[in-house]
Amino acid sequence: MYDVLIIGGGFSGSAIARELSKYNAKIAVLEKTEDICEGTSKANTALAHGGFDAKPGTLKAKLNVQGNKMMDKLTKDLNIPFERNGALVLCFDEKDIPKLEELKERGEKNGVPGLSIINQEELRKLEPNITDDAVAALLCESAGIICTFTLNFALAENAYENGVEFFFNTAVEGFTKKEDRWIVHTNNGDYEAKAVVNAAGVYADELHNMVSSKKHSITPRRGQYFLMDKQVGDTVKRTVFQLPTKFGKGIVVTPTVDGNLLIGPTAEDIEDKEGVDTTKEGLDEIMEKSKMTLKSFPYGSVITSFSGLRAHDEEDDFVVEEVEDAEYFFDALGIESPGLTSSPAIGLMMANLIRDKLNLQEKDNFKETREGLPLTNRMTPEEHKALIEKDSSFSKIICRCEMITEGEIVAAIHSPLGGKTLDGLKRRVRAGAGRCQGGFCSPKVIEIISRELNIPQEEVMKNNSNSKIILGRTKE
Ligand SMILES: Cc1cc2nc3c(=O)[nH]c(=O)nc-3n(C[C@H](O)[C@H](O)[C@H](O)COP(=O)(O)OP(=O)(O)OC[C@H]3O[C@@H](n4cnc5c(N)ncnc54)[C@H](O)[C@@H]3O)c2cc1C
Repeated sequence: MYDVLIIGGGFSGSAIARELSKYNAKIAVLEKTEDICEGTSKANTALAHGGFDAKPGTLKAKLNVQGNKMMDKLTKDLNIPFERNGALVLCFDEKDIPKLEELKERGEKNGVPGLSIINQEELRKLEPNITDDAVAALLCESAGIICTFTLNFALAENAYENGVEFFFNTAVEGFTKKEDRWIVHTNNGDYEAKAVVNAAGVYADELHNMVSSKKHSITPRRGQYFLMDKQVGDTVKRTVFQLPTKFGKGIVVTPTVDGNLLIGPTAEDIEDKEGVDTTKEGLDEIMEKSKMTLKSFPYGSVITSFSGLRAHDEEDDFVVEEVEDAEYFFDALGIESPGLTSSPAIGLMMANLIRDKLNLQEKDNFKETREGLPLTNRMTPEEHKALIEKDSSFSKIICRCEMITEGEIVAAIHSPLGGKTLDGLKRRVRAGAGRCQGGFCSPKVIEIISRELNIPQEEVMKNNSNSKIILGRTKE
């Protein structure tokens, strides 16, 4: 029997798993897809929000600010990129400056450091590519950018290295409560645990409603994006928001930690919890709204578009608690934005609740740091050269856009919780994430996966087991 079963391998589940792996306990994560980072955590703006937007007194506000503060140590320990590039909220009408003041006050109430209002002249100096229509802005120095994929993988890998088990392709279908345990029914048989954590993203309401009479209802709130080529990655240095106007909520223009430019997201309530399509209307809206921020929209530099689903709970706040009428069942529910930023704090809060409930004792051999993958584009030329001397596959470029070598792809396949699909490798080492979006390197990456895992090329999938790439051979 497990002490704790965590449902979901997104930021929430993985951060909770890592925090709980500090204790002597038998823990497992049940994830219905093939990999970590397949839900909302793979498609968002990847910002460490400052925390000025959340309503004071809410759990969102508290965990956002706490999570943001935890990011420096966490990203250093886990060896992943993070940059405090700062954020701006643009105001387009002198009459709206009091709204900027309000945001600043709200942020100060939430405990956000480094907030100031800057005038048009200061704004121009900071961001010369912003339209002349912006008359002032709120500057938040503590806001940052992060790699959404590596944060999720790093949390999960570190939990795994500290003893947490992971079961993929394991979809939770129901629960039975026995006296001292929960029986968790899945498509792969039953699992038993003293405590269950529901971190199932947009599906967390459905799992919660199976065990509690107090119902939750999550609406998927879709956000669509354009991702732009690195050529225009330095259009802005900071993350630039727009103050909401009578024409609706604004959009964000931000650099990414990998040097691209990201523009979006929209906010549309939809019914389909798998509805991650992009639409003409959504993408048109982004182009239209981005004109308020940028002097010109870099049309020719779009390399892809994508969308993600916020798990909007009708109570409009994060829920991180033991369910009142289902003892030993814990929810991390309604984890919409700023769920990425808050995830370290969500992990800590949930782990403390469970530690107290199960009387868990700290381990003396918790491994706090993670070496991570040998990523050559984060190395100095000397470090790269030294690596090539040990293993020449680190000189063989497979992905030409992102300059990713064979050595990196092989290392990612054999890493803890290693990638086995084309998308899994794209998210781990960026092979296929560049300008051509895998047009050139996909066949090569398929060959490497097939060779390293000793499976036929026809069995290499794009992401899940229904996503065949090679359907058959035309020649033998
Ligand atoms: C458009 C958009 C922009 C955003 N921007 C930001 C941002 O810039 N900064 C920020 O802080 N936050 C942002 N967020 C929020 C952030 O991405 C989410 O809060 C976070 O990813 C939620 O993580 P999660 O682990 O709770 O959910 P998920 O990542 O969805 O993980 C849930 C997991 O549970 C699994 N699962 C579901 N049902 C079952 C089942 N029955 N059995 C087993 N497994 C199951 C799923 O497959 C999934 O892997 C944004 C979100 C969106 C959509």
